Amino acid sequence: MGLTIGKYSFEYEEYDSIEDLSPEDAHLVAEARKATKLAYAPYSNFLVGAYAALNSGGFVVGSNQENASYPVGICAERALLASAAQLFPNEPINSIAISYHNLNGVSNKPLSPCGMCRQALQEYEGRVNQPIRLLLSGMEGKVFVINHSISLLPLSFSAIALK
Ligand SMILES: [Zn+2]
Repeated sequence: MGLTIGKYSFEYEEYDSIEDLSPEDAHLVAEARKATKLAYAPYSNFLVGAYAALNSGGFVVGSNQENASYPVGICAERALLASAAQLFPNEPINSIAISYHNLNGVSNKPLSPCGMCRQALQEYEGRVNQPIRLLLSGMEGKVFVINHSISLLPLSFSAIALK
């Protein structure tokens, strides 16, 4: 029979807290948590902050920006990528820490970027030809470290398909 079963898996690191990270990574996570204060999220009360370290040594911040017309809102990750593209054109992003503060509940376990942001992260990696490392956490508790953001989007659609 012409059947093959595909299988997909990836490895990530799980740290009990920010204190178990290297000082550099702990700094990124602390800044992402701080960046949640920049969020404009009066509708969801779900504040997301992102903080990126570029290869060049530069840093970029992002936060979610909602809108009364809901689909107009933008996630922290894509806000950050758009800023990076303006402020540091063509400079690869080494790592992005992403944290959230849920004003309606708890913020103590890592959450992952939404599907649209995964697609945007993949495109950015392709643009600058370098994988982006993700550090995911809430305001406290565990931190997940994912070495290549593309791991979060298996069998993805990309520019290759348009050639
Ligand atoms: Zn998103």
